[in-house]
Amino acid sequence: MVEMTALNKWFGTHHVLRDITLGLAPGEKMVLCGPSGSGKSTLIRCVNGLESFQEGTLRVGPTVMDGSREALAAVRRATGMVFQHFNLFPHLTVMDNLTLGPIYTRGEPEDSAITRAKPLLERVLLTSETWKYPGQLSGGQRQRVAIARALMLEPEVMLFDEPTSALDPEMIHEVLDVMEDLAADGQSMIVVTHEMGFANRVADLVVFMDAGEIVEAAPPDAFFSAPETDRAKTFVGHIA
Ligand code: ATP
Ligand code: MG
Repeated sequence: MVEMTALNKWFGTHHVLRDITLGLAPGEKMVLCGPSGSGKSTLIRCVNGLESFQEGTLRVGPTVMDGSREALAAVRRATGMVFQHFNLFPHLTVMDNLTLGPIYTRGEPEDSAITRAKPLLERVLLTSETWKYPGQLSGGQRQRVAIARALMLEPEVMLFDEPTSALDPEMIHEVLDVMEDLAADGQSMIVVTHEMGFANRVADLVVFMDAGEIVEAAPPDAFFSAPETDRAKTFVGHIA
């Protein structure tokens, strides 16, 4: 599904990803964690082609990321991205936020897009908000719209970059619940998050990064109960 081999990236002279080798099989869930500046966002952005890299290989589904326009388009189609800030179109209703992409980028007929959007809005518990504008919604509701919008493109892998870190505490769980529901349904995902309860419940693999490298990668049981490295121990200690 996603395979990275010895990926290296520099911003100028700053080496931000160091020999990253990771694989995600279909249906698997990976949680990326680590201190600020460790390269989590950069890594996830490489997977959907928002960032380029200088060394190593990246494959998403059947597509080898070679920097070509075709590869970039294929990778964008295969991935759905949800950011910390919701990036919704403020002047469009919830429904139009969901259907705009499929209608304009895929030429899908409007009635077909609307028909597909309805069960997704039901799934993220927003049926009664269908015709509202983002400004009329809470942060948690907006983030659930962003998730439903990404799902409209039927991505093979969902990428989440700190989807709950801009939310008030009482809204975090409603977004995590939707993500857990997707995970239970077999959606492949890579999630950057500090929500270690979520990691513990959902992840097949927890990957701890520091200073651009993978310090530790283990199933949650092992990672949380017996981190092997001092850096991971300190991190688990801080968040416990
Ligand atoms: P956070 O937890 O704060 O989101 P992160 O683990 O996501 O951190 P990244 O945003 O991937 O970290 O950043 C990794 C490193 O790359 C940092 O040192 C950052 O300053 C640097 N960096 C990120 N984006 C750029 C850019 N566009 N140009 C130059 N340096 C960048
Ligand atoms: Mg980040």
